Amino acid sequence: MHQPHINTPLSEIGTVLRRSQEVLVITHVSPDGDAIGSLLGLHWLLLSPGRKAARRVTLACADRVPAQFGFLPGADEIVQDPPARPWDVVVALDASDTHRLGSPFQPATYGSAPVVNLDHHITNLYFGQLNYVDPNAAATAQIVVRLAEEMGLKIGKEAALCLLTGLVSDTLGFRTSNVTPEVMATAMRLMKAGANLAEITERILNHMPLSLMRLWGLALAELRVEGQLVWTHITKEMRAQAGAPEESDGGLVSYLIKAPEARVAAVFAEKANGEVEVGLRARPGYDVSDVALSLGGGGHPQAAGCTIPGPLAEAEARVLPLLLSLSG
Ligand code: AMP
Ligand code: MN
Ligand code: MN
Repeated sequence: MHQPHINTPLSEIGTVLRRSQEVLVITHVSPDGDAIGSLLGLHWLLLSPGRKAARRVTLACADRVPAQFGFLPGADEIVQDPPARPWDVVVALDASDTHRLGSPFQPATYGSAPVVNLDHHITNLYFGQLNYVDPNAAATAQIVVRLAEEMGLKIGKEAALCLLTGLVSDTLGFRTSNVTPEVMATAMRLMKAGANLAEITERILNHMPLSLMRLWGLALAELRVEGQLVWTHITKEMRAQAGAPEESDGGLVSYLIKAPEARVAAVFAEKANGEVEVGLRARPGYDVSDVALSLGGGGHPQAAGCTIPGPLAEAEARVLPLLLSLSG
């Protein structure tokens, strides 16, 4: 099952896409801004004027688009159940393994159509026939911009807005440790192409529903500090009490890692189906991606996650020792 981790040149991936008419693009379950932004960004690029007129791009995500990304052009074209067409190519975005693509990913029906895996998670399993994974990229959106450059595609206003949203989301507004001059150059390029950074920042980073604030209140009341680990949990009862039924937690774990005491932070969130979503963060110099991978999840050194069986107390008892040994 282990494939050698060799990247396919973007020029080769560009050639495959250029020749394709029926394109299926899938992003990961519980989509974030990079998932939706790179999905819609690639959509606009592949449909840009002068490209194959007959090309049809189908966009899929197992879960509904979170309301805060509804302003992105094309968001209402994303489907949860793509039709079973004979595709020419299937592109996976921002997903380190096929499980993360959920039900829209049906490789048994793809025949000879290659799967193209574009991602930036260090834990990527190279599940495609063509893979381009750059763990140093700050977002999959950044890789999509590189692909556009390689293919000589013009980045229009719509694509720029979607792709800059991906960059802003995954870097928390250019605050993460993977923000390089290339990231800033990409952002500048997208702004010059017409994307409004202030609008994106306002919508993505400066808004949080009151119900989520109440949920944070309940979760923060149970905050625990053990060694250099800061963690808490979100139960189904807390969600009901806060009136926050959706499974998002507004990025609580990114807040916990701000504590000066924290080298590692974790949030254990009970899902409606009884499974537990574990969100992990680490300060630079520490790495939570291996623990996430060993539990069937994935991510980056500083931000990772996994979904494991419940009940909550058992999930915590299983994961906390692993995190404690990491954070010293
Ligand atoms: P989050 O805490 O949801 O912002 O996720 C942080 C990082 O961990 C992201 O890059 C995700 O792709 C990855 N991640 C989160 N949850 C999972 C999961 N259940 N399986 C695989 N990767 C995950
Ligand atoms: Mn993502
Ligand atoms: Mn990403």
